[in-house]
Amino acid sequence: MTTHIIDGVTLTLQQGNIVAVTADAIVNAANAALAGGGGVDGAIHRAGGPTIMQECRKIGGCSTGSAVATSAGNLPAHYIFHAVGPIYQGHADEPQLLRQAYQSCLDLAEQYQLESIAFPSLSTGAYGYPLHLAAPIALKTVIDHLHNTSTSLKQVIFVLFDGRTLQAYQKALQALLADHNH
Ligand code: ADP
Repeated sequence: MTTHIIDGVTLTLQQGNIVAVTADAIVNAANAALAGGGGVDGAIHRAGGPTIMQECRKIGGCSTGSAVATSAGNLPAHYIFHAVGPIYQGHADEPQLLRQAYQSCLDLAEQYQLESIAFPSLSTGAYGYPLHLAAPIALKTVIDHLHNTSTSLKQVIFVLFDGRTLQAYQKALQALLADHNH
């Protein structure tokens, strides 16, 4: 686990299962149909119980690069933010869509005046986004937001499932912070 303070906000990178983390909002790596699936999505619906899927069905869907909020069922959170990252195919708009998926969650956090939010690594599992490209986008979106916004957030946590993903995020964060200090 590594912790940095960015503009007074704690940014934590930790390895683990996102359903075991307590935060005001937990971000789901959802699909556009909000239909559930494997990976983070399966884990959240299994651990959170059926009310989350009932709310997803009512909402009906979410476009790529956006996010919608539901309650968190049995999970130790107030909200689940279902964010839809792009499926990686190498198209020019994919970095922007990935950035927008994170930004939509940050915007929801400000709208609800939340103090903490936990993100998984969107798009880098079943959606195939290369980690070395996705990690800097994820982190830069959060860091830029903390620089540019008067935020309610006190803690942003990236919960990364395996050592390889944690290391990619650690490396990307070091590079971004080194850039920032020059
Ligand atoms: P996507 O479809 O957006 O690629 P996935 O859920 O398939 O989403 O994978 C996104 C990332 O989340 C991958 O790095 C995957 O290893 C990781 N992951 C899978 N399950 C969990 C979990 N329970 N908690 C945190 N991260 C998870």
